[in-house]
Amino acid sequence: MPTILLFASYKLLSLFSPPVGLEHLHCDMKRGFTKARNKEPQVKALLEQDNIHQQIGLLAQQGVYEFHRDISMLSCQDGVGRIVDILKLSQKSTEVQERVQQILENYWGNPILDGKNILKLLRGDEGYPEAILIRYGNYTFNFYAAIDCIFREVDGTLHILDFKTGKSDFDRRQGYIYLLAAKYLYPNQKAVASFYNLETGKWSQPLSATAAAIQTFESLLAQTAKRHQRDLFRYRQNLAEFKEIFPPNPGISCRNCPFPSICQFSVQEVAA
Ligand code: SF4
Repeated sequence: MPTILLFASYKLLSLFSPPVGLEHLHCDMKRGFTKARNKEPQVKALLEQDNIHQQIGLLAQQGVYEFHRDISMLSCQDGVGRIVDILKLSQKSTEVQERVQQILENYWGNPILDGKNILKLLRGDEGYPEAILIRYGNYTFNFYAAIDCIFREVDGTLHILDFKTGKSDFDRRQGYIYLLAAKYLYPNQKAVASFYNLETGKWSQPLSATAAAIQTFESLLAQTAKRHQRDLFRYRQNLAEFKEIFPPNPGISCRNCPFPSICQFSVQEVAA
């Protein structure tokens, strides 16, 4: 078998099995385009187009980062306006401008990280995080976990915080995956993970996990990495079997997919 590097991440896991409540949007062919054909020029171009949700998520994260890069922004009356300028929000679409402006005002009014002992806060555009090499059984895989923010609680507990925007529910699996990352990045330290929606102001309860629960997720990621490697290998052996290896699930899932323009199975919805 040619070398295909094993890797796993929350993104890969969610391409295999969607979060609870989003099963109707699942389509394995999306994984095929995203992970097996991502170097083809058309696919690459589609993957590089940020959709509105991605733009808002990134700008929201950058906004939080800027508030804490210069903490005086949180106390000055035009703090939001200054960050709007830094983010060049006026160059974005009306929807993006309005929603990000609201997010910045929300955060200025309730800066949840203010006064926290912040160990790490990402701007959001740093690219791939450094891989964590996990040895599992007789093989190893690279594990990627992009952690938005880590702060230390007063009692010393590490708190991993993931920022969200939009309406989607928090996926507890992602929390467990962050706790797995913490096990490797901060060994022997107590850790919890939570999600904070910058649009709604909803903050989840902190999630903690036993060693056995973290082990279960490590095993799940290892299996996911292997299954994905097997699919990539099959595809590279026979490009014509794309649709058998990554079966399409046309329908409502096509609404939320970047690939309808190049996918022969896409379903275009007809206006009533
Ligand atoms: S367009 Fe539809 S069928 Fe094709 S990959 Fe996307 S979701 Fe799947």
